[in-house]
Amino acid sequence: MNAEIIAVGTELLLGQILNTNAQFLSVELSNLGINVYFQTVVGDNQQRLKETFHTALKRADIVILTGGLGPTKDDLTKEIVAETLGLSLELHKESLDRIKTFFAAMHREMASNNEKQAYLPKGSIVLINNNGTAPGCIIEKDDKIVVMLPGPPKEMKPMFRESVYPYLRKKTSNIIYSRVLRIFGIGESSLEQKLIDIIDNQNNPTVAPYAQEGEVTLRITAKCENEEAAEKLIVPVENEIRNRLGITVYGVGEESLEEVTAKLLMEKEITLATAESCTGGLLAEKITRIPGISKSFITGVVTYSNASKIQLLGVSIDTLNQYGAVSAQTALEMAKGIRERSNTDIGISVTGIAGPGGGSEEKPVGLVYIGMATRQKCWYSELRLIGNREKIRNITTLNALDMIRRYLLSGQ
Ligand code: ATP
Ligand code: MG
Repeated sequence: MNAEIIAVGTELLLGQILNTNAQFLSVELSNLGINVYFQTVVGDNQQRLKETFHTALKRADIVILTGGLGPTKDDLTKEIVAETLGLSLELHKESLDRIKTFFAAMHREMASNNEKQAYLPKGSIVLINNNGTAPGCIIEKDDKIVVMLPGPPKEMKPMFRESVYPYLRKKTSNIIYSRVLRIFGIGESSLEQKLIDIIDNQNNPTVAPYAQEGEVTLRITAKCENEEAAEKLIVPVENEIRNRLGITVYGVGEESLEEVTAKLLMEKEITLATAESCTGGLLAEKITRIPGISKSFITGVVTYSNASKIQLLGVSIDTLNQYGAVSAQTALEMAKGIRERSNTDIGISVTGIAGPGGGSEEKPVGLVYIGMATRQKCWYSELRLIGNREKIRNITTLNALDMIRRYLLSGQ
């Protein structure tokens, strides 16, 4: 089965709003194993909407329209769909009652044109709107399925999940089910090399890597009759991948590196302090996004100038003169300094050249040192990053989080 999504609204064509409805529906349909061949956007124009719907109906099994179900004159979706399919619009009493109740609950007068929303194509399956006034509907006609949903995402998404998904699920024999593994500390091409036989030889599940900023994700996708069957196919492949990649796999699904690292800190009851230069507090910001982290995160300072590195962290003037602020030596003294001053289990520091200026041949833009100090030892990592200022600062932050994560997992 294949589908076409038609988003209706002049605002979309003017670029005033982003067509997030199409994105949402595409993801949902692909999870259902339904191929989306076309996404179209059309303004609130009778003639062009008619043509667009007509074309979609010719080439797709399922046509999903969003928007234009409202009470105003420019909301024409239902009228045009009904006319094209040769159906009349009939008053749906229950919907009218719901709309009346909705207005009463908000202590607002119902305008007479709101009644228009309760008119639906004859014979359609009515979809209740629990978050607004306009009901949606599903029409089955001549082997085609037409679905109309309201434009506001807050109304459209729950309506899709509550009513359309279960309806379409019954029509499709296979679902697409996937698991995303999140990976840090290996490039996309090295990752591919390590997994090339799995990537090339698997077709159910399929395995596909995607590079994102600073990290790689690996999507394992199975096509099956249900979730349990898909799990059975995915688990052995996932285990083999985890065996090969080891600690570089840091999370699953939507988990972020800061989340995983913060959870480890909390679980192990380890305390942390940060001293940042080129990241200007980004590291501390990411860590403190995680609720409950106050028991592990003690303090974070931004020491941008040499003077502040000396004053607040005790970095020696000699080190700064001899090696410079962006050096392994400075990073180590920063990490030690913040750890001792805050009496934490870990001190971590970041110093680097984020650019665009400030680089030299010896110390180019993108050169970064991350220092780590624990009660027993200290060490550092040197990064040579490429990209603009924002990217360098972001990737540095991710690397710092990963350094903490790896230390915590190393069991030392
Ligand atoms: P209403 O009853 O609010 O008029 P409607 O079903 O008639 O709803 P539209 O008038 O087309 O829908 O759009 C209402 C609002 O919903 C838009 O102003 C916009 O904020 C949002 N919206 C509409 N279509 C989309 C879309 N494709 N993607 C994201 N948001 C959308
Ligand atoms: Mg509208």
